[in-house]
Order: sequence, then C-alpha cells, then structure tokens
Amino acid sequence: MAEYEFDLFVIGAGSGGVRASRMAAAQGMKVAVAEDRYMGGTCVNVGCVPKKLFVYASGFKEDFTDARAYGWNSLPAEFHWPTLRENNAREVSRLNDIYRNLLANSDVTVIDGRAKVTGANKVMVNGREYTAQRILVATGGWPFVPDIPGKEFILTSNEVFSMEAFPNRVLVVGGGYIAVEFAGIFAGLGAETHLSYRRDLFLRGFDRDIRHFVRDEMVKKNIDLKFNHQVSAIEKLQDGSFLVHVEDGSSLNVDMVLYATGRVANTEGLGLQEQGVVLHRDGTISVDDNFRTNVHSIYALGDVTGEPQLTPVALAEAMALVKHWRTGTTAEIDYNNIPTAVFCQPNIGTVGLSEEEARDSGVRVTIYKSEFRPMRHTVSGNTERTLMKLVVDADTDKVIGVHMVGDDAGEIIQGLAVALKAGATKKVFDETIGIHPTAAEEFVTMR
Ligand code: FAD
Ligand code: NDP
Repeated sequence: MAEYEFDLFVIGAGSGGVRASRMAAAQGMKVAVAEDRYMGGTCVNVGCVPKKLFVYASGFKEDFTDARAYGWNSLPAEFHWPTLRENNAREVSRLNDIYRNLLANSDVTVIDGRAKVTGANKVMVNGREYTAQRILVATGGWPFVPDIPGKEFILTSNEVFSMEAFPNRVLVVGGGYIAVEFAGIFAGLGAETHLSYRRDLFLRGFDRDIRHFVRDEMVKKNIDLKFNHQVSAIEKLQDGSFLVHVEDGSSLNVDMVLYATGRVANTEGLGLQEQGVVLHRDGTISVDDNFRTNVHSIYALGDVTGEPQLTPVALAEAMALVKHWRTGTTAEIDYNNIPTAVFCQPNIGTVGLSEEEARDSGVRVTIYKSEFRPMRHTVSGNTERTLMKLVVDADTDKVIGVHMVGDDAGEIIQGLAVALKAGATKKVFDETIGIHPTAAEEFVTMR
C-alpha cells in the first residue's frame, strides 16, 4: 500500500493552484486540490477577469461621445448596473465550471472545503484528514483594510462586483493598481469619483513621467484626485450615505467607500505556524528558489509568498515548480522584466526599469519620449493623449525600460517585453519597420 493517499495535495484552486494541480497530474502524480470559496481563485472571481469586463463597460460612455464626430448620432446612453452585474456573474460562473471540468478531466480530485495543514504530510478538510507526500499552499491574498473607525462600512474589491446598487458618489482609497483601475471604472460608469491617496503622487514604483501623465489624464476625466490625504474615520449618516472624515479636518459625503490599500497573505487558520513553517513579518510564506518552505514536504507559491502579485507570475511559478519536481533542476523563474499593465483609462503598460530605478542603480541612461494625441481623437475631439517612453542604457545601447500610457498599452507592451527579454538594443528598435498607422509604431521611430 502507498505510504500516502496523494503524491500532491494543493490548497487553493486559484491561478497557481489549478496550474500546479493540472501539470502535476499530467506527469502522473496523484493530485488533490482543496478550494473553499471559488474555482479559479481571485483572478477569475474577484480580480483580473471581472475587473477587465468592468473596464470595458466603463469605456463605452466616452466611445458614444467620440462616435458623434464620426457621424453616429445616438440617443444619450443610460447605464444599467444590474445588467453589468448579472452578465459578469454569469461569465464568472461559466469560468468556474470550466476550471472545475479542467481539473476533473486531468484526474485531479477536487475537494470543496477549507483546508488546514495538520502535519508535515497531512491536510484536514471538512473534518477528514488526507495524507500527501507533498503539500502545496497556493492560498493567495485577501484585501487589507486599515483599522479605522467605521471600517465596517467600507467595501473592498471582494464585494464591489456584486454591489446591490450603483453609487452616485464614490471615494476610492489607495494609490495602487486597484485604486487607480476602479477610480477609472466608476468615473466611466458615471459616478462622481474621488480618489484618496496618502502621499503626494499615486502609483509608487512606476516611472515618474507615467505617474504624472496618468494623474493629468484622470483629472481630465473629472476624477477628483486627493493626494496627501489620509482618511481618519467613516461615519454612516441617516440617509444611508457616508461622511468620510480626513486627518486635515475636512470631510467628504459619498454613497460608497472602496478601500484598495493592498492585500495580505491568506494564511490565517491554515495551521502553518503550528507545523513550524516560517512566515515573513508581513505574513507571506518564506520559500527557497524551489518554492519549498523550511518544512521539506510543504511548498508555497503565488500571492501567498509575496510580490509580484500577478496571475502570470503564479502560473509561471506553478509550471517551474512541477518541472523542478520532474527534472530535479532548480526552478527557473526570471523575476526581471516582468511586464505589467494597469487598466486605468488610458491604460498603463510597462516593462523593465523606470528612469528613476535605472539612474538609482548607477546606469547612464538616454531617455526617448513621445507624447501625442492618438489618431482616433484628432477627429473625435477627445483631449486624451498618449505617452511612450524608452529608457536606454547609454553604454550598452540596450533598451532597459519601456513605458506607455495609452489605449491598448498592455497589448502593445507584451510584444516589447519579448524584445527586452531578448536583450534588444535601441539600434534594433530603430531598424524595426513600423506598422502604420498605429500608436505602437512610435516605439520604433523615436529618435
Ligand atoms: P488566488 O488566485 O487568490 O487563489 C487562492 C485560492 O485559495 C482562492 O480561490 C481561495 O479561495 C483559496 N483558499 C484560500 N485559503 C484556503 C484554504 N484554507 N482552503 C482552501 N482554499 C483556500 N493580476 C494580473 O495579472 N492582472 C490583472 O489584471 C489583475 N487584476 C486584479 C484585480 C483585482 C481586483 C485583484 C484583487 C487582483 C488582481 N490581480 C491581477 C492579481 C491576481 O488576481 C493574483 O495575483 C492571482 O490571482 C494570484 O493567484 P494565486 O494562485 O496566488 O491565488
Ligand atoms: P497595491 O499594493 O498596488 O497598492 C496599495 C495602495 O494602498 C498603495 O498606494 C499604498 O500606499 C496604499 N496603502 C497601503 N496601506 C495603506 C493605509 N494604511 N492607508 C492608506 N493607504 C494605504 O495594492 P492593491 O490593493 O491596489 O492591489 C494588490 C495587488 O494586486 C497589486 O499590487 C497587484 O500586484 C495586483 N493587481 C494587479 C492588477 C493588474 O495586473 N492590472 C490589478 C489589480 C491588482 P503607498 O504607496 O504609500 O504604500
């Protein structure tokens, strides 16, 4: 009889957990995965997928206006929140089924329930203990909300997709990906939108020109940006709205407050510390290059191990880990030059070093920038602009950073990430023939 029931027990059927389960099963491992909430994890249910659908939804208002200059005379459009909410829920449910089927078709045993690690090779779900040669923790993250009076009144990205009613006035708190994306979503869908950020300029870590440019574009879209602004308390008023108190003594009356102040690792109640698994101070799980914790049969990957918290990173880690188990070679993940997009409006797409990061690391840089009105808006009259920027190592001529704010920036930057990975020089960019007329061609014509 086998020593363990499973070769691998995965906790969490999110981006990383599903990929690891399927890959391991495909290699002949006997795999179980436990999921207590939703198939597909954060990305599918309350993250990338619904967010992108909402971004699409929020773009139509401007499209209707822009269309007029192209000869389309339409009636003023009206937004109907329940339609978006329900169509989103239907799509998410379709994806849940797809994930469940993918696992079943890969011969992975799916166990619905909350898992707890009860031994180096033991996991408890729904009162039943399972044994496994290896345990993989892929439990992701959870929204962090600072402890302020009135905290119980706020929403996070977990609840926002299924709100009962669409708010007329919204305050979004935070200055990272989610805050900036949702400020754009709410404004686009027609809400009076305020964004509160505690420091002087949001999107810390992104290239400074990009941050300034996005700030200006958001202001044009009537988003009220409140920087150096710290919420101190939230009070619920008799009419059901909220009075948000700010440390500077001011206040703001809104119908909904969305907190997007980062995410914490989902390790509560997992039993890891009882098993001696070492966590970092911020609660993320400490792993080595092969995603192994200090307890040798227990592994972890994805958001629960810290940044970068991105779906393609969790997927890449899952594939690298399973390959490591198969070949015994070190898991190969290159965390440099990870491209990323922020789906604000217009989008940010970025890969490589910001100008500041490059300079701080002692690189002598040459900067190329192009800022222009996109062709579509030369006729529409929309004042939205596009920014493109290349950071080049002046000594080697290598392109070390590519940044863009503009329509489809994420789509454009993906290809350029391949160029960076291949070590392309500015000369190679210059020698590449553009595609005309596109915005993307600017990246090969900047001199
Ligand atoms: P998750 O996908 O979070 O999966 C963890 C799973 O574990 C969950 O299903 C959870 O229910 C389950 N679980 C937790 N504890 C237990 C337990 N004890 N027992 C059983 N199951 C458990 N990334 C991008 O790349 N692009 C985007 O556009 C993007 N947009 C985002 C938008 C939002 C609003 C948010 C919140 C995130 C977004 N992300 C985006 C980040 C992305 O969703 C995460 O990086 C990714 O989902 C991480 O995958 P994971 O496998 O580590 O964890
Ligand atoms: P981020 O870490 O991106 O941003 C958190 C923001 O909250 C920062 O601006 C931070 O400020 C601020 N903050 C933190 N603590 C407090 C506090 N106590 N009071 C006030 N403000 C505070 O987290 P998000 O929640 O936006 O998103 C989580 C992660 O999910 C992202 O980092 C990203 O990896 C992933 N994601 C990816 C997306 C994509 O790929 N398009 C979209 C959405 C999420 P400060 O700058 O001062 O630290």
